[in-house]
Amino acid sequence: MRTPREVLKNIFGYDSFRRGQEEIVNEILSGRDVLGVMPTGAGKSVCYQIPAILSDGVSIVISPLISLMKDQVDALRSSGVNAAAINSAMGRDDARSALRSALAGKTPLLYIAPERLGGDAGEEFREFLSSADVSLVVVDEAHCVSQWGHDFRKSYLAIAPAIGSLPWRPAVAAFTATATEEVRTDIIRQLALDSPFVLTTGFDRENLFFQVEHPDDKMSYLLAYAKKFPDMPGIVYCSTRKKTESVCRELAAGGVRAVRYHAGLDDSERLKNQEDFIYDRATVMVATNAFGMGIDKSNVRYVIHYNMPGSVDSYYQEAGRAGRDGSPSDCILLYGDEDKSTVTYLITRGEDKNTMETAFRKLRLMLDYCHTSGCLRRHILNYFGERSSRGECGACGNCRSVIERHDITVEAQKIMSCVYRAAEKTGGRKYGAPVIADILRGHCSNASRMEQVTRFGLDAVSTWGIMKETDASEITYIIDFLTAEGYLASDEFGALSFTERSFPFLKNRTRLLMRRHGRGQKSKPERVPDGADAKRGFFSGVLAGAFRKTAGPEKRAVFSEELFGTLRGMRLEIAASEGVPPYAVFSDKTLQEMCGALPSDEGEMLSISGVGRMKFEKYGHKFMEAIRKWRER
Ligand code: ADP
Ligand code: ZN
Repeated sequence: MRTPREVLKNIFGYDSFRRGQEEIVNEILSGRDVLGVMPTGAGKSVCYQIPAILSDGVSIVISPLISLMKDQVDALRSSGVNAAAINSAMGRDDARSALRSALAGKTPLLYIAPERLGGDAGEEFREFLSSADVSLVVVDEAHCVSQWGHDFRKSYLAIAPAIGSLPWRPAVAAFTATATEEVRTDIIRQLALDSPFVLTTGFDRENLFFQVEHPDDKMSYLLAYAKKFPDMPGIVYCSTRKKTESVCRELAAGGVRAVRYHAGLDDSERLKNQEDFIYDRATVMVATNAFGMGIDKSNVRYVIHYNMPGSVDSYYQEAGRAGRDGSPSDCILLYGDEDKSTVTYLITRGEDKNTMETAFRKLRLMLDYCHTSGCLRRHILNYFGERSSRGECGACGNCRSVIERHDITVEAQKIMSCVYRAAEKTGGRKYGAPVIADILRGHCSNASRMEQVTRFGLDAVSTWGIMKETDASEITYIIDFLTAEGYLASDEFGALSFTERSFPFLKNRTRLLMRRHGRGQKSKPERVPDGADAKRGFFSGVLAGAFRKTAGPEKRAVFSEELFGTLRGMRLEIAASEGVPPYAVFSDKTLQEMCGALPSDEGEMLSISGVGRMKFEKYGHKFMEAIRKWRER
């Protein structure tokens, strides 16, 4: 087993490398430093695990969280690789014996927390480093070393000096999912990477289905969704602890096996809930953004945001926890008007780590995501500076939407004229959506605004009262849509102005259609596309299964849900008896492929993606037996 491909097949059970993996493996093996920037779920682990397995000596993997280390070690052990972790939770003797076995060259991968490298706790470990044969140092979640990033950890600063003090400098491989240029440069500097090979794979996650909903009642939407997929693990993100509590309670009352997670709970409950979720004992995790970093559960089938996060960065990071195993998964954002004010409130209270201006700019782009009727995937990728050549993706809620479009040409003209007239009247001053809505309705919703409006003479502009019949919230909704589509610009404080699209629109009287999302939607869609549950009005990537015609080597198998359920049950039993998470046995994707291919001999079983030699020997016959029984029933 001497080539990377052989290791990929025999240990991990995969036939081909994913984008970027092979290059990184080869660069590391040639001794060069590497920085891999890859989205969650792209398959970073394989990139350093293969060189580690192929090298003599030990590879040290620095990882920020114990749970993450444990998962990785469990998964490697299940595949026959003698990995180990040392962490603060284990006794001294265990730690010593792990180090001894690494010194003896019996441990190709040793996972440690960064704290191990500095301070008093590190004495013993530094001694180990000075005599061990270290072939590679891996820094996982490398953005933690950067103060620009959102997860800066001081302990990461001890990494570079520790590497510097080694008798030989091994190759250093750093990995992160954070894309910004600032963070990337900072990682290279802070870790003192030596002319590294930098690989940035695209940020697209093809198996994720993106959707924005504006339901009248978020809770009933969520409940119906969770009940629709009773066996599928999902995460529901809420903006506050209080919301987390109430959503979890209501889901539980509705018969969903939900647990909660937020910073206000004591450690033991948090840990218990997290484990229940990871081990598939609970189906739905309702959490604040405190949950998720370092959680390596690969079979999360959906991430639903009950509230809008403050930026597309946060959104994509959280939503990206769905579908790490590559199976179709849903990322759904439930937008409500109150979300905008919650985020604004947090920003003005200084609870956002960015400067206020940056925070508002990010909020604007997040709001655009919620209101655009263009391709959601494209919106996200553009945000990360990726121009997609494909245009519309054909695999997001907007691209596949059956939601009716409404002609809002007249409303848009009125709103835009009002923005123009108000500015004209008052020497170019700009106003936010609430004032514009008041002018259009010819009525101020509060006294201080009325005072402002009369003082500036805004009640005398020609657009005063021309939308008397329309709700203020409806006007704001259309304004958000116009901003998202670039017909209006909104500065960081929400003040509106014209863009280069504004005059041409007014002049040419272009017809403008807006998707109405859930709002008061009465009429039924005429055509029910793949993935739509007509009864509930859902449109789901999980239901649709496959989105793109070119799914690459990891094609979707057509399979029996019943058999899938049986195999999952077996997996759960095995996992429980071995004390590892179910996905360390086989991923959902691997089981689904089995259900499609129905392997009946060793060769067929080994050709399933995710079945390596070791796993075949441990579990292969059991699963083949179950498949045989199912066929003969
Ligand atoms: P990341 O650390 O980048 O978030 P992981 O390393 O956890 O991603 O990989 C995500 C999933 O993809 C895992 O289930 C992993 O086993 C699987 N995977 C990795 N490489 C391949 C490959 N070449 N072919 C198929 N599946 C792969
Ligand atoms: Zn799309």
